[in-house]
Amino acid sequence: MAHIVIVGASTGGMPAAYEIRNTLGSGHRITVVNPSETFSFVPSNPWIAVGWRKRSDTCFPIAPYLKKRDIDFIAQAVTEIQPDANRVVLADGQQLSYDYLVIATGPKLAFDEIEGFGPEGHTESICTIDHAEKAYGNWQRFVADPGPIVVGATQGASCFGPAYEFAFIMDADLRKRRLRSKVPMTFVTSEPYIGHLGLGGVGDSKTMLESELRQHHVKWICNAKVMRVEPGKMIVAEHNEKGEVVKEHELPFKYSMMIPAFKGVDAVMKVGDKLVNPRGFVKVDEFQRNPAWKNIYSVGVCIAIPPVEATPVPTGTPKTGYMIESMVTAVAHNIRDDIAGKQVSEKGTWNAICLADMGDTGVAFVAIPQIPPRNVAWMKKGKWVHLGKVAFEKYFLRKMKKGSSDPIYEKYVLKALGITRLQEESKPKAG
Ligand SMILES: Cc1cc2nc3c(=O)[nH]c(=O)nc-3n(C[C@H](O)[C@H](O)[C@H](O)COP(=O)(O)OP(=O)(O)OC[C@H]3O[C@@H](n4cnc5c(N)ncnc54)[C@H](O)[C@@H]3O)c2cc1C
Repeated sequence: MAHIVIVGASTGGMPAAYEIRNTLGSGHRITVVNPSETFSFVPSNPWIAVGWRKRSDTCFPIAPYLKKRDIDFIAQAVTEIQPDANRVVLADGQQLSYDYLVIATGPKLAFDEIEGFGPEGHTESICTIDHAEKAYGNWQRFVADPGPIVVGATQGASCFGPAYEFAFIMDADLRKRRLRSKVPMTFVTSEPYIGHLGLGGVGDSKTMLESELRQHHVKWICNAKVMRVEPGKMIVAEHNEKGEVVKEHELPFKYSMMIPAFKGVDAVMKVGDKLVNPRGFVKVDEFQRNPAWKNIYSVGVCIAIPPVEATPVPTGTPKTGYMIESMVTAVAHNIRDDIAGKQVSEKGTWNAICLADMGDTGVAFVAIPQIPPRNVAWMKKGKWVHLGKVAFEKYFLRKMKKGSSDPIYEKYVLKALGITRLQEESKPKAG
């Protein structure tokens, strides 16, 4: 019997637990370790931050649902990973031995890299449910006394979709309240152009998102590096394509939300360079395995992926939900094969599919593969995307309660669109 320990219980860790259980069947032990007792659906955080959702709509207790699938749960943070001893140490001092470790710890939010930045400083965040709730408290104060908004993503950020999403959601909320005319908005981003998204653009993303920002009266600054944030003021250096500063902006704001750069979490980072890159992201091979310790797998935002291309101001590559689920499927199959003594062979497709809400409409994009040149790349706008995002939220939450991470209808609908989780060519040829 193998013991599989999964660290983290969010978009990566929860599906990993279910899919490993479904793939291995009974007879193996699975334990999930996560600091919080509740699962929180991160993509709903922009709605939490304007009061369109409450915590109870997007969070649920983890333990009872995992228990139904015979998966153990420990509500603790892992403080230390000891790969040579195949052991993790938890915050309460407990030690847990494993045969396979799946690291799904997401990012550490690097607010500390910019003076005055983040919820402990002068800007809001929507990256966690706690941050999004705090942002909503300040949003209520803001709408009572509105003024300029600065929104976007800083240097080194990789998660650009939610920055655009939140800009359009705030715009929609302010229009509903008939306050939009009192709020000048500026979108500040490290991307070299609007719609780059850390992906070198997807289909018509540049034209479409520029047009949307223009139509919603949002100004923008690209190639932007946030130098520091003071109360009510952001100092931003705009760069040219050679990476030289061409203009310094002092942007006054009454409300600001900026997506930070990400790093690896401390417990993972401190294992050192056999496990992680200099930013603390887990090094994985094409099978999602760490090259140094082959019984350690990793999925989600915490894995190391090089930028799609060099940009004048550093940007990272986003890791989106479906891409993460494709990593999860590869890990489940590879652990099964390794236990059976077979060579591991499954590779996730890492296809990027994203639905970005804009309040009453939305934009969807598909990038297959993620890194250009691509076989499929499109971005489309429509009310269907807003409705699709709401449906996706309900669907994902239901899926995480039912314990099925790859329901049959999802598999066939997406397959009909040419979107699969595993690379076909990675399968061993018959005979
Ligand atoms: C605001 C926002 C909106 C997004 N919207 C979308 C979207 O609409 N569509 C899309 O495809 N993608 C979206 N993403 C991108 C991505 O899908 C999410 O970031 C996703 O939640 C990443 O999942 P993850 O499991 O890798 O990391 P996380 O969601 O960050 O989860 C990591 C988990 O590990 C736990 N953990 C951390 N350290 C430890 C430790 N030491 N010990 C134990 N557990 C630990 C954390 O508490 C957490 O539960 C969004 C991202 C953000 C920030």
